[in-house]
Amino acid sequence: MQDLIDGFLKFQREEFPKRSELFKRLATRQNPRTLFIACSDSRVVPELLTQREPGDLFVIRNAGNVVPSYGTQPGGVSASVEYAVAGLGVADVVICGHSDCGAMTAIATCQCLDHMPAVAGWLRHCDAAKSINEAREHASPRARVDSMVRENVIAQLANIKTHPSVALALEQGRLQLHGWVYDIETGSIAALDGTTNHFVALADHPHVCATPTRHGIAA
Ligand code: ZN
Repeated sequence: MQDLIDGFLKFQREEFPKRSELFKRLATRQNPRTLFIACSDSRVVPELLTQREPGDLFVIRNAGNVVPSYGTQPGGVSASVEYAVAGLGVADVVICGHSDCGAMTAIATCQCLDHMPAVAGWLRHCDAAKSINEAREHASPRARVDSMVRENVIAQLANIKTHPSVALALEQGRLQLHGWVYDIETGSIAALDGTTNHFVALADHPHVCATPTRHGIAA
């Protein structure tokens, strides 16, 4: 714990003064343009891998970068999605999975989660992706997990569209969805191309988008 406190003291001493104007601007308002939904995994750091400053990303993180479908009893994720889209008016939503995801590994390899009932219950929101992945042939255990990570991103993109705020923003052409998979070892990102439903290297296809263009919005 001491390293966290030492880190804060270093931030206060060295980093805060460098950004004092930014923090002054942010003191009473925020205007993030992107909702970034990622896994809680300690190795995935949205601001680092997109080189964003405070105020740029509205972030939701949980085990497995999951977005439960909209329902009659909305939880924290649903409330945060609604606030970002209907309240803050973000223009983009990124759902970002990652390599070596513990949650996706547990699903793909059918690990027993009896000792973690809350995790098991939460990951039921990935059942559609699980069904698709189980029906596929995989060349190796690693490929099975990688495929599960990608299918989960696709499934969560489908889930988020069930939220009224998202459905409306998509219909009105003021929101775009993006599905990413971040590779921890190589630092690369594969992005879902909504026109082909395949993942492509974001570095080679920087304008790729999960939601095909509509209403004249440039991809
Ligand atoms: Zn993960």
